[in-house]
Amino acid sequence: MIHCTNKTFLIDLDGTMYRGDQVIPEAIRLIQRLQKLHIPFVFVTNNATRTPQQNADHMRALGFHNIQPKAFFTSAMAAAAHMKKMSTANKVFCIGESGLWEAVRESGYEIDEEKAELVFVGLDRQADFSLYSRAAYCLRHNHALLVGTNGDRRVPHGDGFLIGNGAVLEMLEYASEAKRVTIGKPSAIMMEETLAYIGKSADECVVLGDNLETDVAFGKDNGVLTIMVTSGVHTREDARRFRIQPDLLIASLDELHIK
Ligand SMILES: [Mg+2]
Repeated sequence: MIHCTNKTFLIDLDGTMYRGDQVIPEAIRLIQRLQKLHIPFVFVTNNATRTPQQNADHMRALGFHNIQPKAFFTSAMAAAAHMKKMSTANKVFCIGESGLWEAVRESGYEIDEEKAELVFVGLDRQADFSLYSRAAYCLRHNHALLVGTNGDRRVPHGDGFLIGNGAVLEMLEYASEAKRVTIGKPSAIMMEETLAYIGKSADECVVLGDNLETDVAFGKDNGVLTIMVTSGVHTREDARRFRIQPDLLIASLDELHIK
């Protein structure tokens, strides 16, 4: 049993709130309970493809109520915010979908392939050989820093998977010999930026997610309590096999007793 009262929930999306386009009904009930009890929560996701507005629209379409765009903190937002603090570079090259483009634009970056000092890379399901080659050239020629929104190997897709952003980063790193920084869960950078976004400290939060390597590690590595639900990628068996254990392991969000 862990005490969640007065904690802010850092909640994963895919595998925890829904699976692709299929809602997890217990998740709707959990969000309603949190809203009713005025328990704060923010959705923290490695998915850099959607903007906060697109995330809010997606969740509304799945049956969630009263979820505002500001309730989402994505790895794209964390990447843009973090690099603004860490570097004076303003000219960037960017591979990604609307979630990353919006975050980069809103942080005031200028897109300039010739003079780019940073190359932001998030998942882009339309990217091709030519775009990757331009990014690799930019990294090598300009000595630009490679900034990955997340290092996921694979993205679940139907019965199979798609190539994840981490695999693309490995390719670009190999081709260009550039150094990279990877932002998403479970990195300390993602936690630091999440806590800055919500204005809380680690001991005031609890991570809720389905993935041992991203969500549970995200909490454990950064001093935040963790709740794992086995509705997504990892099972109770996996939790036993991995050396990393959540503070609480549940099969369904209905098991979560919050007062
Ligand atoms: Mg997940």
